[in-house]
Amino acid sequence: MKCRVGAAVDTFHNLVVLVFTDKIIHNTRMSNDKNDNKNADKSAIVQSAQDIEAQAAAEITKAPSSRELYDLKTKYLGKQGSLSLLMRELGKLGSADRPGVGQLFNDIKKRLEVAYAQRENELKASEINAAIARERLDLTLPGPHLDLGAAHPVSIVIREIVEILGRIGYSVRQGPLIETDRNNFTALNIPEDHPSRDLQDTFYIDDRHVLRTHTSPVQVRTMENEKPPRRVLAPGSVFRCDSDASHAPHFHQIEGLLIDRKVSMADLRGTISYFVDEFFGPGLKKRFRPSFFPFTEPSAEVDCSCPICRGNGCRLCKQSGWIEIGGSGLVNPKVLANCGLDPEEWQGFAFGFGIERMAIIKYAIDDIRLFSENDLRFLRQF
Ligand SMILES: [Zn+2]
Repeated sequence: MKCRVGAAVDTFHNLVVLVFTDKIIHNTRMSNDKNDNKNADKSAIVQSAQDIEAQAAAEITKAPSSRELYDLKTKYLGKQGSLSLLMRELGKLGSADRPGVGQLFNDIKKRLEVAYAQRENELKASEINAAIARERLDLTLPGPHLDLGAAHPVSIVIREIVEILGRIGYSVRQGPLIETDRNNFTALNIPEDHPSRDLQDTFYIDDRHVLRTHTSPVQVRTMENEKPPRRVLAPGSVFRCDSDASHAPHFHQIEGLLIDRKVSMADLRGTISYFVDEFFGPGLKKRFRPSFFPFTEPSAEVDCSCPICRGNGCRLCKQSGWIEIGGSGLVNPKVLANCGLDPEEWQGFAFGFGIERMAIIKYAIDDIRLFSENDLRFLRQF
């Protein structure tokens, strides 16, 4: 029996020495008292428990961070913590001493847990405050540099035209880039033998489908699907087999269509005149030259005096003082009928501009290919 007690005391000694090297003298004395009675064991355990409490309380109060505080919990109160290991020695005490010492351990544990919770709250508060201070937005610092893109001149011109005509009731419609031969040609009164249907001029997808050569199919779709009166704009990509300094295989158009009762060339002239003044600035002369398009009757090319030289003659207008800006006319009654409208009741006018051409005139650009070459030195000027 004595031998077992001695072994237990030895184990206890090793544990305590491990945790508290400054208590070596005390514990060494204790381990030498192997033959002391159980009261001596009791006082040694009580002393050690009180030492552990003092040390733990001091360390908990001073714990510099939540993480280090948590480590202290493991070190003292955890299953393998020094207090728990010391508690195992309770079993070695006489039954008379056990309840008192057990109560002492419980009290110590409670006090340490209270100290732990208190320090935990303090640390949490200060850590939150530190994070707030650290992450506070300093409005005086320069912001991050962002490389922003800018709108392409083609987009700028489309937006401006849509905005100007939007003010007098026009709204945008869109359609597919691959169109049926019927919507692109037949419905628009373009006959089978018309040169624009030639393979040299049009990209054919198959026998019945083409890359649209103008945005006019959108007008066809509008007339077929929406009840008049209507004022619509159809901006977008168009495609033709063509490529030189003034022609590109892919370019952009915007067309306007008005369908109403009693529409005349005077209405068309008024609309174009308003648009030219708003787009190029006031004071330019406008001129309608008779022309021919299968889908309008009568038809007219629209000219205005050159916005660059104001009519005096320059390279852009080839010294003529005039610039051609687009085509126009009253909607051919055959087209109205093709699209299901009664030409006796409804009339209309239509006009179309090349977007790149409008940009060329407005910004005095001399090569249409610049719009699609993506040269930033060119694009950054807009
Ligand atoms: Zn000019």
